[in-house]
Amino acid sequence: MLAARRLAATAPPLPAVAAQCHHLRHSGRRGSSSATPAAAHEQRMPDDTFDFMARLIGAPSPVGLEAAMTQGVVAPFFKELGADRLGWIEHKFRGNAGTVWDTGPEGDTEGKLTVMLCGHADKIRMQVRSIGADGKVWINSDSFLPLTLLGNTVTLFSEDPAALGTYRSLPATVEALGAIHFAPPESRSGKKGIAPNELYLELGLHGSKRKAQLEALGVRAGDTVLLDRPITRCAGGDTFSGAYLDNGLGCFVAAEVARKVAATPSITEHVRCLFAFASHEEIGRFGSRVLAQELRPDVLVAIDVNHDYDTAPTQGKERYQPLKL
Ligand SMILES: [Zn+2]
Repeated sequence: MLAARRLAATAPPLPAVAAQCHHLRHSGRRGSSSATPAAAHEQRMPDDTFDFMARLIGAPSPVGLEAAMTQGVVAPFFKELGADRLGWIEHKFRGNAGTVWDTGPEGDTEGKLTVMLCGHADKIRMQVRSIGADGKVWINSDSFLPLTLLGNTVTLFSEDPAALGTYRSLPATVEALGAIHFAPPESRSGKKGIAPNELYLELGLHGSKRKAQLEALGVRAGDTVLLDRPITRCAGGDTFSGAYLDNGLGCFVAAEVARKVAATPSITEHVRCLFAFASHEEIGRFGSRVLAQELRPDVLVAIDVNHDYDTAPTQGKERYQPLKL
């Protein structure tokens, strides 16, 4: 999930991409040659690129429902890039929302290096566990630290009972103990935290038969819950905050490489590029296995995120490879 699984590849020259990646990630590595102001990592990200990144990261693409990103944002991006004109095609797979945009589907690929750049489109998600008689929607926290979820506004995605196959979003907040007035002393002092099974959603229902109200809205166990934390620029300079950097950022980097390759088609005379957006990473890296197995690249670069261990509290940075913002 958060572990860096980047393979150092002897990749063809893909100008500025690596630098831009470092700019976005928290590694903060700076080029030793501070030379030209043209270096991508020394420039402010253009607003339209930032907006695209925010849309990509913000696509509601929980594990198993990744088409919101791969078809809702990525596919239109490649079409706008001129994939048809360039002769690139999209590989799709039955029962799997993962997708691969291929620069060399036709013709002689002999002697060409096939390089797959792979981000994963799925993101971790909370899920509805059960609905209480009082209308509380109990949720599983997935890989989130429960304490960090309290008070967050979220979106609950439920299937519309009147139009099966279509989903609609319901606003909610994540709650646990309620107001401080109801909390035991250990919680007030910070000695006691929040157990995962104490988390529930508040949807602001009122009146009688609240469980029936929720069921009428289509809310069911297993429904997806995502944070409402859009990507926004920070006050600290060319930085940003928001949810689901893992791994919209990896997909964004793959897409930005595609943009560079489209602008320099001569690259594809020697290299067949496979821009991959995998599904089901968070539950076992199943999606990327399918893509790699089917397309057999010579080099596969998995693009994912990692922590800034210097900034993360309580972490002994000596236990990790050095990364800092
Ligand atoms: Zn990841």
